[in-house]
Formats: sequence, structure tokens, C-alpha cells
Amino acid sequence: MVRDDKLLIANWKMNLPGEGIEDWLRLVKADRTTSVAVAPPFPYLARVAIADSGLTLVAQNCSAEREGAFTGEVSAAMLADVGVAWVILGHSERRHLFGESPQLIGRKVHAAQQVGLVPVVCVGEKEEIREEGKTDVVLQEQLAAALEHADRGMPLIVAYEPVWAIGTGKTATAEIILETHEMILAKLDESGFRDAPLLYGGSVTPDNAGELAALNGVSGFLVGGASLFSDRFLRITQALEQVALKSSKKG
Ligand code: PEP
Repeated sequence: MVRDDKLLIANWKMNLPGEGIEDWLRLVKADRTTSVAVAPPFPYLARVAIADSGLTLVAQNCSAEREGAFTGEVSAAMLADVGVAWVILGHSERRHLFGESPQLIGRKVHAAQQVGLVPVVCVGEKEEIREEGKTDVVLQEQLAAALEHADRGMPLIVAYEPVWAIGTGKTATAEIILETHEMILAKLDESGFRDAPLLYGGSVTPDNAGELAALNGVSGFLVGGASLFSDRFLRITQALEQVALKSSKKG
């Protein structure tokens, strides 16, 4: 995995796609033009794996523990066992609705890498943090904790997801994405994660995907709401592919 890879992750959260799992997979598989990964809720992981869609299978969370008396938890090894390749960690809904601390997320990153899963580490600031001018400090802290026990020799993906942009229809401006991605990429470089792709997430739609994909430092998207219907999601994959094609012609 390298930083120039164009990646797209569909995060279904605690939803199922409008047309049903198998039809969504069939339609996206047939028409996709870029590298696509899909994160269904836990009980449907095996069903997506069995459908053999060729899409990368992603879990939305994992435990920091290896095994034992942790009712309701799912270990990284169990996910790997059912065919999961990547795991989303530190999503803002986990941080803010379920109280996950930066340190816990760091332990989860370690647990995932130990069994060969690729962590998709999400970082993002709340609206008041941005208004107070503290975005850089907060993101640096989130990153430092998430990467504390991470293995530099193993692949890792980061997603910048401003909390105020998730599920709100309030996409971050190009200016905000450019400056924030530049800061995150500098931090990743300095920490030894020079190959880590950096995704943007937060109200990405078929209408804004082309403009956002063309921004410097954007390797792709983590998509929530717009991933729930294959036609909307496919228009995002196509926008990303067009940008990739243009830059390969230039380069
Ligand atoms: C997300 O769930 O990570 C996300 C970015 O959601 P949405 O695309 O709906 O803003």
C-alpha cells in the first residue's frame, strides 16, 4: 500500500444498503472503477465475505483485547478469521458516543496489526475545537496516541473526518481539507508512516466527490450516508477514478 493509492471505503454504520446486501455488492462489483472496500455491521461480515465480490472487507471496530470475558466485544483475530482485511478505528461515533479514549484507540491499532489487519485510523475535530483554533493540537494528540504502538513496517490508513461534517451535509471546504491534510501528512511522515494513504470523510456525495478527489493530499474517501445506495456510491467511485486517470496521464 502506498500513499498514491486511490481508495474508497463504504461505511454502512448500523444500516443496510437500500437494495439489499447481495444486490449492492453485485452492482458495485460490476461497475466499480477503483479500489473499493466495504464495512458492513458485524453480523453481515461473513455474508459479504461469502458473496465473493472482490471488494475489500472492512470491520467498523474491534476490541483491544485478545480474548476472554469481554461480553459484546469482537477480537481482531476473530475478524481476520471471517475474512476481514481492514478495520476502522477511532471513528468519531466511537470516540464521542461510546467514550473511546485516544489511548484505547492506540491499543486497538496495535491489536489489529498484530493479526495482520490494516487499521483505518479516523481523526477529526469537533466544531468548537476548530472555532477555538485548536484543530492542529487535537489532531496531533489523536494521531500520536493512535500511532504510539503502531508498527511502521505494516500498512496503515488514516482518514481525516471533521466531526461537524459527518452525516450533516456540511462538507469541509477545499481550503480546510488542504491545510489539514498537509498537517496530518507532515505528522505521518515525521512519525515514519510515509506510505500511509490519507482519506477524507464527511458528507462526501456524488456532487462534490470530483472536486474533493482532485485536492492535493487526498487519497480517497470514507463514505457513510452516500454509500447506502449503489448508484450514488458508484458515482463517487467514478469521480475518484477520473481524477486518478488524469493524474496518471500528467505523471
Ligand atoms: C462516516 O461515517 O465516516 C462518514 C463520513 O459519514 P457521512 O459520509 O455520512 O458524512
